[in-house]
Amino acid sequence: MFMRKLLSTTGSRLLLAALVLIFACGVPGQSNRKIAVTIDDLPVVTIFNDIEVRRRITRDILDQIKDSQVPVVGFVNEGKLYRDGKLVDDEVDLLRQWTAAGLELGNHTYSHMSLNSNPVGDFISDVERGEIVTKQLLATRGMKLRYFRHPYLHTGLDVETKRTVAAYFEKNGYTVAPVTVDDADWIFARAYDKAEKDGDKDLRKRVGEAYVPYLELKLGYWEKQSKALLGREVAQTLLLHANSVNAEFLGDILDLLKKRGYECVSLGEVLRDEAYTQAETFTGKAGISWLHRWAMAKGKENILPEEPRVPEFVMKAAGVDSE
Ligand SMILES: [Zn+2]
Repeated sequence: MFMRKLLSTTGSRLLLAALVLIFACGVPGQSNRKIAVTIDDLPVVTIFNDIEVRRRITRDILDQIKDSQVPVVGFVNEGKLYRDGKLVDDEVDLLRQWTAAGLELGNHTYSHMSLNSNPVGDFISDVERGEIVTKQLLATRGMKLRYFRHPYLHTGLDVETKRTVAAYFEKNGYTVAPVTVDDADWIFARAYDKAEKDGDKDLRKRVGEAYVPYLELKLGYWEKQSKALLGREVAQTLLLHANSVNAEFLGDILDLLKKRGYECVSLGEVLRDEAYTQAETFTGKAGISWLHRWAMAKGKENILPEEPRVPEFVMKAAGVDSE
């Protein structure tokens, strides 16, 4: 009786909606695990140029995000929106679908430029060139561009470069989006796409079946690394890409996070974890997790050396020599 009365009110319907939202990814209270999902290389990264493929990948990724009600930030390479110097509306429309789904977009440079192999002035120009359309799309939803993700996680080879870029970001209202759960989803996607192109259904299936188990091993690795380094699990940031394997398996990945007791939260909430207030001082060449960077800053290079690898057959299918 009480329940029936409760359910009959508008307020309780809102309450139910909130509960559905909470249970969509993790159960708060049951575990302290938190993670922000970020997706790079928007609108799409694939070996296929066909707009229909790009539409399908976008639709499938967004459908799975909408089903789970998870907040996601997508990082854009605006260079992909142009052909022969002209803005292509079909490509912009792919991004529009992200903002229409209520999702936030960030800057990932115009041309996916590495800060490690380009002059800092060129890099900053590429950041500025990469924010024009994204700013407009966010403005139509009352949002401001505020996050930046370094391509290849290349954050500069010397202190002076890092200082210059940090000052630029500070002045222009950008927050750098770190990555703790680093993985090589892009190798799986390349193998998956190539197998599809070659009509090798069996190989494609095997690559797909290996993907989520690989991510689970990686997740376990970063959880352990965080505990070993900080004595607790940091609020994690997961890096994925807008590619074919995530179009196929993002729902399974979100289920996996739920199974491991994660609550999927906004990037802003994750960044409130005090671990992220530590200075990021890494000046090496590699694009590595912030957990490795924090470890190295403390002189602890190899806390957990047994980082899970991409299976050999996937590397081979992708035509990639190293992760
Ligand atoms: Zn990227």
